Amino acid sequence: MPARNTVEILEALVGFDTTSRNSNLALIAWVENYLDGFGLAHERVFDATGSKANLWSTIGPAGTGGYILSGHTDVVPVDGQDWSHDPFRLIQREGRVYGRGAADMKGFLACCLAAVPDMVARPLARPIHLAFSYDEEVGCVGVRGLISRLEGVPVNPVGCFVGEPTEMNVVIGHKAKRSLRVTVRGKTCHSSLAPMGVNAVEYAARLIVKIREMTDRLAQQGARDPLYDIPFTTGHTGTVHGGTALNIVPDVCTFEFEFRSIAVDSLDTLVGEVTAYARETLEPEMKAVAPQAGFELEIKSGFPGLDTTPQSELVRLTKQLSGQNDHGKVAFGTEAGLFDEAGIPSVVIGPGSIDQAHKVDEFIALSELEKCDAFLDRLVGYCRDN
Ligand SMILES: [Zn+2]
Repeated sequence: MPARNTVEILEALVGFDTTSRNSNLALIAWVENYLDGFGLAHERVFDATGSKANLWSTIGPAGTGGYILSGHTDVVPVDGQDWSHDPFRLIQREGRVYGRGAADMKGFLACCLAAVPDMVARPLARPIHLAFSYDEEVGCVGVRGLISRLEGVPVNPVGCFVGEPTEMNVVIGHKAKRSLRVTVRGKTCHSSLAPMGVNAVEYAARLIVKIREMTDRLAQQGARDPLYDIPFTTGHTGTVHGGTALNIVPDVCTFEFEFRSIAVDSLDTLVGEVTAYARETLEPEMKAVAPQAGFELEIKSGFPGLDTTPQSELVRLTKQLSGQNDHGKVAFGTEAGLFDEAGIPSVVIGPGSIDQAHKVDEFIALSELEKCDAFLDRLVGYCRDN
């Protein structure tokens, strides 16, 4: 087989500043042009504004169950990071290539595209689908449109490989997440008359303490999944804003919190407990002083967890193709939970380390790209023969 051009493709992909706030269409057009070179059809699934798109392309026979290679095209911002070089120009140094997205996760996209010549060289018995999304980094937003689009395909794919950086380890699970924004409305007055007001900051604090008590309970006696580094459901409050001056009882306070749950815990139940405490314990006290006082809770973002059974056909195949016996679970969320929720068994396996993701001077080791290239070679071989 001719030498692959994984690194050259990665260089091209890194050159597009696809920070989530930007359009990704220039990168998508580049990929389409590349696929056109092999005579492959492709389809865009746009966002509501038309400035971003997912890309879907099927290589091989569409009428039978195949495998999805899923990756996101967007990257996190470099704002405030002191890079030692232009983050959107790939540079090579001592067995690594550096650039924004090198590990998370344009490295995987490059490996997939570099495998295309091999995919088209001889007929496949099972198709391989490329599913490249937008806006993953802002809450797995883009891929949802692509998954809805998949409901129209003639045959459901039988498996999905999500190429987030796992150092090519077989990852069968990640936690689910839900984040909420809470607005506490109180009643203002001069602080010397404090009992006549409803202090929004204090009621926010009481709900925040409730959330903390719940996470302490989960940490001490909650369910355990030993495949996670932190083997229980977690949660925290990340921001609080409230008050204008010490002599004014604040009438508004906002805060944001999240839960990240293992499969046996229910996010609905946890959020329900927070909501019930706000409605049943705190609000009656507040409304006794000011009927308009109370809590508004709105879901900010979230994604389902992944919990693929180790005995499944897909996990068996992934281990066979990657030459591994072990599997694990990771703390970070991925698009795999959404594919799985849509009925497509999914695993996370991709080159590079999550330790380098989102960081200054992000890099991926060339050896990681080579491992992924070899994995895809075996997948292509499998799709030819089976
Ligand atoms: Zn990622």
